[in-house]
Order: sequence, then C-alpha cells, then structure tokens
Amino acid sequence: MNAKVGVMGMGVMGSSLALNIESRGYNVAIYNRGDELTKKVKNNNPDKNLIDAYTIEDFVESIEKPRNIFIMVTAGEATDYMINEVLPLLDEDDLIIDCGNSNYHDTIRRSEFFENLKVNFIGMGVSGGEEGALKGPSMMPGGSKEAYDRIRTILEEISAKAPSDGKPCVTYIGKDGSGHFVKMVHNGIEYGDMQLIAESYDIMRNYLDLDVEELADIYQKWNEGELDSFLIEITSEILRKYDTKTGKPMIDVILDKAGNKGTGKWTSESALNLGVALPTINAALFARYISAMKNERINASKILKGPDINIPKVSDELIEKIRKALYFSKIMSYAQGFTLYREASKKYNWNLNYKEIASIFRGGCIIRAQFLEKIMEAYENNPDLENILLDDYFMNIAISYQDAAREISSLALKAGIPVPGFTSALAYYDSYRSERLSANMIQAQRDYFGAHTYNRIDEEGVFHYKWDEEVEENWNK
Ligand code: NAP
Repeated sequence: MNAKVGVMGMGVMGSSLALNIESRGYNVAIYNRGDELTKKVKNNNPDKNLIDAYTIEDFVESIEKPRNIFIMVTAGEATDYMINEVLPLLDEDDLIIDCGNSNYHDTIRRSEFFENLKVNFIGMGVSGGEEGALKGPSMMPGGSKEAYDRIRTILEEISAKAPSDGKPCVTYIGKDGSGHFVKMVHNGIEYGDMQLIAESYDIMRNYLDLDVEELADIYQKWNEGELDSFLIEITSEILRKYDTKTGKPMIDVILDKAGNKGTGKWTSESALNLGVALPTINAALFARYISAMKNERINASKILKGPDINIPKVSDELIEKIRKALYFSKIMSYAQGFTLYREASKKYNWNLNYKEIASIFRGGCIIRAQFLEKIMEAYENNPDLENILLDDYFMNIAISYQDAAREISSLALKAGIPVPGFTSALAYYDSYRSERLSANMIQAQRDYFGAHTYNRIDEEGVFHYKWDEEVEENWNK
C-alpha cells in the first residue's frame, strides 16, 4: 500500500493533520524522529489507513511520487532537522510543506534555499489548534504556486469551510514567507481580540460587579449580533463553568498570568521593523507581559493606591455602550493588522489579496467571526483600500460608536481599571483621523538638540533652524 501523502511529526498537530487527511480517503505515511509517538498514533487508530514508518527511508519509500510531505514539528531547529533528514532522499518535483508556526524570516530563508533545488517548498500557516487540524483548519500556504496547484485539492478537502458560503478556508497566499507572515499576524490579531474581550469582562466583573451568570448571558447575547465570533462564544461558555474542587466559577480560580508562545511578539517586532503603528496588538502583548509579573504586582498592590471608586448604576444602556466600545476597538485592531499586511506586501512583493485573507479566517481558526464578512466586502469594494476605516461600513461604525468607546474608557480610567486595548484603539483612531498631529513639536525638538532638520508646511525642502541664535538672525533663512 502506497501513501498519497506523508506527515512528519506525530505530536498533537501532526497526528491530527494526518488523521484529517486520512479521513478524506487518502493513505497517509506517518513518521516521527523517535518511534514512540508513531506507534501510539498507529495503535490508537488501528482501522485507519496510516502507514507507520520507523526509518526515514521507509517513510519516503512508502509515498507515491511526486511526493507530498507535510512537516508538522516545533518551529525553528526541529523544522530544519526534519527537512535535512528527508531532503537527501527526495526526487525531482517532490514537495515539502512546513506546517509549523515557523518564523516567516526562516521561511524566506528556506524558500531561497529550495529555489536552487528540484524539490518544491511551501511554508504554510495552520490555525485552529488540535481540533482544527483534525476536523478542518484554516491554512495559509506560501511558496511555489505550481506546487500549491498540485496539492490544492487535498488542502481544500482537509480545510475548514466558511459557514456562510461553504468556501474552503485555504488559499494561495503568495511567495516565500507570505503564508507564515499571514499566520503570524493572525495570531497578533487574536491577541488583540482576546485582550479587548478581557477588558470588557474586567469592567463588567470587577467594576460593575456583575456575577458570572449575568456576564455569560451578556456575551451570549453579544454573540448573536455584530460581535458574533468563536472567541465571544467561548467567553460565554467559560463563564458558565464551575470548579469541581471548590464549586467556585472556573474563571475565579484561574491565575491571572497570561502565557504566550511568541507569535504575538513576532507580530509586534515585524510592525516595529516595517514602521507600522500597531498599538492595540502591542497593548495586548504588553498586557500579557505585565500579567506575568504576578509577584511584583502583589507587592505593588499593597503600596500603590488607586482612585476612590463610584460604581455606576448598571443599565442595559451601559452594557450596550461596553459592547459598542468593544466593537469599535476590535475594528481599530483589525485596521492595524491589515495595515501591517499591506506594508509587508509592499516590502516583500507578496501581492497579498486582503479579501481572500479575511475569507480564509472565517472558518477553522480562533479569530473566526461574522465580522470578517465585512472586511471581505470592504476589499471587494476597493481592493486597494488604504485602511479599512475608510470603507463606508467601518467608517460609519467608528464615527457612531466612538462616543461609547470614549465614555467606557473614561469610566475605566477613572476607576483605575487597566484598559490598554480600549485606550490604544481610541488613540489610534484619533491619530489616524488627525490632519495635524503634535509631531511638529517632536521635529522641532529633534532639530534643536540634534540638528536632525525638519520640513516646512509652506515650502518644499529640508531645513535647520539655528535655535540658539536671535530670531532676527533666522529671519528669511
Ligand atoms: P507537540 O505536540 O509538542 O509536537 C512537537 C513535534 O515536534 C513532535 O513530533 C516532536 O517529536 C517534534 N520535535 C520536537 N523537537 C524536535 C527536534 N529537535 N527534531 C525533530 N522533531 C522534533 O507540538 P504541536 O502542538 O503538535 O505543534 C507542532 C507545530 O504546530 C508547531 O510548530 C506549533 O507551533 C504548530 N501549531 C500548533 C498549534 C496548537 O494549537 N498546538 C496550532 C497551530 C500551529 P518528539 O516527540 O520526538 O520530540
């Protein structure tokens, strides 16, 4: 029995992906660097068409030519290790697809390396965790287009399907590292979404003093409207769960220290390197970092006093304002994320299709949401849109929801509830819509202390002012 596809790496994701491919009627060769995981997957799935291989030679031999090999291992050295192990045994036209969360710089490096070889290479972001990999992930392949076209049918079969139109949540993204870049920014956007929801929860729970069941009802209701999304849905479900040990709400027994695996940091780093303003996603990342300083925060909480708090009367109107503040902030976060795509696309000549990117996020992945249809419509109306805020739908929401966002942020600030996501979203909106910012003062200061020069509002050219001389001496210079 020959395999149509091979999967290297039998961890959580690799084994799920192998089973997903198998479930579509393909024989799948499986391999891990040590025997144990491969045996476990084979033994747990005796009826499946999995060909377990325990040497790399047997693995390669068992796959039909031209071979399609998915590598799903820890990003970084492990991926290079697997590529180096299998590559010498491959033939012309064979294809390696790196499905791990590789850094896009690594994928660009690997793509350059493969350019001189006869073997094809694709770097593919995969989103959706274990369940997604098993039942249908969202996938972002970048690299050889010809190779993509060859594997396209299988990728479309194993992918998630968008709920509204059944379209597969996979599309060719572009060359070299584009697929992993799109996945990375997707994770950054996910950080933003999670932080903003957490802030809305914080305001309602720790300031307005609503109980978990009331909160669960609110998020459940929100999930029926504009905010309809996987993350709002699970927030509601989380709030309805109770600890089996103490009987307390689960959310209350979970330590307030957020972890991260680094893709949010990579997103912020790429924004810094590309010169893109990403304040809300940055705020989400830094909020995780400060949450991790638990012991320091415990000490500080005993010393640093906050403001006196007046709890406002809770009304449907106030809750609606929080909903609007959350939706407004979410829009700002996506505006930033999609601007990052745009700048990266220019820098790396990826020719990214933003409508298609929004489309493949609609199923399988963590940020799946009804809202993505609106982003698709915006780019359908104008594929060269500079910023989603300039699209009619988003413009109208931003203009009409800003008062709620301002009021809720002010309430939180006055009460000492940290809302870095909400406030950064407002600052982004106010900066982006300002014809004139305060950067003239920054330029003046730079020119004053470092002769860094400045431009004028009324004349082309580069100028330096002699700041320590009399005004008259500068006149007309
Ligand atoms: P996992 O369960 O920890 O499995 C890791 C896999 O990598 C195992 O097969 C492991 O083999 C292999 N590996 C580790 N170090 C290696 C090395 N130095 N050389 C060769 N193989 C090595 O992790 P996972 O969750 O399946 O994640 C796999 C990839 O998917 C990662 O890149 C991850 O970022 C990405 N991903 C994960 C998720 C998720 O929700 N988990 C979602 C999207 C993407 P051994 O058992 O021999 O160590």
